[in-house]
Amino acid sequence: MELERHEYDVVVVGAGGAGLRAAIAASENGARTAVVCKSLLGKAHTVMAEGGIAAAMGNTWPEDNWRVHFRDTMRGGKMLNHWRMAQLHAQEAPDRVLELEDWGALFDRTPDGLISQRDFGGHRYARLAHVGDRTGLELLRTLQQRTVALGIDVYMECTVTRLLRDDETVTGAFGYWRESGRFVVWQAPSVVLATGGIGKAYKVTSNSWEYTGDGHSLALQAGASLVNMEFVQFHPTGMVWPPSVRGLLVTESVRGDGGILRNSAGNRFMFDYIPDYFRKETAESEEEADRWYTDKTNNRRPPELLPRDEVARAINSEVKAGRGTEHGGVWLDIASRRPAEYIRKRLPSMYHQFKELADVDITREAMEIGPTCHYVMGGVEVDPDTQESRLPGLFAAGEVAGGMHGSNRLGGNSLSDLLVFGRRAGLAAAEHAAKLAGARVEVAEAALADAAAAALAPFDRDGGENPYAVQQDLQSTMHDLVGIIRTRAEMAQALERIAVLKGRVANLSVEGHRQYNPGWHLALDLPHLLLVSECIARAALEREESRGGHTRDDFPAADDAWAHLNLVLDLPADADAVRVTRQPLPQMPGDLAELLES
Ligand code: FAD
Repeated sequence: MELERHEYDVVVVGAGGAGLRAAIAASENGARTAVVCKSLLGKAHTVMAEGGIAAAMGNTWPEDNWRVHFRDTMRGGKMLNHWRMAQLHAQEAPDRVLELEDWGALFDRTPDGLISQRDFGGHRYARLAHVGDRTGLELLRTLQQRTVALGIDVYMECTVTRLLRDDETVTGAFGYWRESGRFVVWQAPSVVLATGGIGKAYKVTSNSWEYTGDGHSLALQAGASLVNMEFVQFHPTGMVWPPSVRGLLVTESVRGDGGILRNSAGNRFMFDYIPDYFRKETAESEEEADRWYTDKTNNRRPPELLPRDEVARAINSEVKAGRGTEHGGVWLDIASRRPAEYIRKRLPSMYHQFKELADVDITREAMEIGPTCHYVMGGVEVDPDTQESRLPGLFAAGEVAGGMHGSNRLGGNSLSDLLVFGRRAGLAAAEHAAKLAGARVEVAEAALADAAAAALAPFDRDGGENPYAVQQDLQSTMHDLVGIIRTRAEMAQALERIAVLKGRVANLSVEGHRQYNPGWHLALDLPHLLLVSECIARAALEREESRGGHTRDDFPAADDAWAHLNLVLDLPADADAVRVTRQPLPQMPGDLAELLES
């Protein structure tokens, strides 16, 4: 078999914010480091991030500090977050932002010349460091520049299809060049997964083609475990019209900067959906809500800035009750609330997005929006300090890792998560490799032959299933049966359909040859997508309550018995289905628990 071979100390799979930050940390700590990514360097999903990076720097509100950020994050996640991750994240995010600035990132400024911070849902104070509404682009540009300056090897347009392991630890990764179809193996004692999310499991999503759950699935198949998979975030504001752009994100900054939601009757309906849990900190009247933008000390936050799960459910209910727009959304209006010049300056991408894709001028008209699958809270179960998974030598950071966001992520907390835990994963991966220095990592030839045969199997079948048709059926299954509002009967039906889809995925066939063949690429992504869909459906069926990004029509309230339990998934050897286990949450120390009570 023709095979390109490389040896490194640390191999990072994924070149988004988490992957690049991990690679930088590993390389700076002496590890021979490589980054592998499906697309071109600089094109990862992180580039699409708009609103900002959450970090309690206190630039706009001196009252802000890591303790308030920790509390907001835990409350936003309805207490299922791993407390230690939420603590480290809140404590270290400001340093990570300042470090980015040192490396050349140009943030928007306050009148005093400090890094400007904007409001987002669930954050008590304006806390998001930003660059207009193109923050992800600047973050990635900066990390990319540093990666190149450090001389880190980057394998672009290269897909990892399997992780390699021996009896005890990870030993590397196997993949192929998308352009030529040729196989590659990277032997390494440490592998960091930073592959992002799973959005392409759903029909309507803000996510790009790269989000096929590869890292979640690779980890599970290699013997690691996943946690929190029932929690999928539906962002309240995606475009709904025209159909070609359905799901495309409309940043939360629109609401952070003053935008409000109205139904087809013109009512500002969010006041009807304030849950008791957030009532004390939410404005009671439109007047109070409007005053909050300039006086946060004496007023409470507008209900449009409740955490995303609350707002998405409210929009869903309005549309279901017949108060939606013609195309099944509601109105998001900033035009009547802020001057045109302000909107164009603060939200330049949104202005162009609507103008070019929907012929809507957001400085004059309201935007038609609705929920879109946006983020997966669930991911690889990791040690909170090192990001190491259950499989020694295998680390995970960024959206592919679980635990940090509990049942619901606050906006802005992902970019900070990438930086904080990307760095920690890179450091720990370098240390792990250093401990094994000198011991050559061996990879069994049979495992490589097996990985190659599995990758080529779709070419060997004639008249099998078309990957595009299978993907469409899977996306409809997840959208219709495991979406925002879930029921036992529908999820059981979803699992039946997933079982049928498994048979179809085992019978995929593709035509043509290995050189840049998109049908083949999809055929290799589909088993991952199917496995993560099964994980979501199984965990969602098991959790009989509603919490964060998991709403059960048949169990509409949060249940105290579930408040202390996580669901962990693994794939026992020779099992044909994932196993779901209930696991008690780790015990939070008293001083942190007190912060939540205050
Ligand atoms: P990504 O940036 O997605 O990188 C994944 C990498 O893995 C890519 O390089 C990909 O090619 C690679 N990869 C995947 N599978 C494989 C494979 N099998 N082999 C090789 N490589 C692979 N969060 C915020 O905090 N603030 C915001 O303002 C914000 N705005 C957002 C706006 C939009 C439109 C979207 C969609 C998300 C937004 N988010 C925001 C969320 C945030 O952008 C993501 O959660 C975050 O960027 C994920 O980063 P990551 O490094 O984990 O993964």
